[in-house]
Amino acid sequence: MRIGLIRCRQTEDMCPGTMDFKIIREKKCAFEGIKEDIEIIGLVTCGGCPGKKAVTRAEEMVKRGADTIVIASCITRGNPIGFPCPFANQIKEAIEKKLGDKVKIIDYTH
Ligand code: SF4
Repeated sequence: MRIGLIRCRQTEDMCPGTMDFKIIREKKCAFEGIKEDIEIIGLVTCGGCPGKKAVTRAEEMVKRGADTIVIASCITRGNPIGFPCPFANQIKEAIEKKLGDKVKIIDYTH
């Protein structure tokens, strides 16, 4: 599995992604049960509110080999401060519309 991760730009100040890397390494949470090796193709932000750049950035990671786009929990679940992205659904739907026939999309990490 080759993943391209998208995170919330607003969350960078309070989270360096430590938990995402840990659960990927340990194959937990969203990656529970994955048998194959997990390679991280890239880690990008949404580009800042309202997150439009997430689509082109996801597309770029697919061009570079990602077969799965992962929308991190800072976007969809509001980790670590309990404040989900108000545009999370729009970001996910736009990525699905653009790339959904080419790649798998996972909408959380932990
Ligand atoms: S659009 Fe959402 S994910 Fe992107 S910076 Fe703003 S709050 Fe974070």
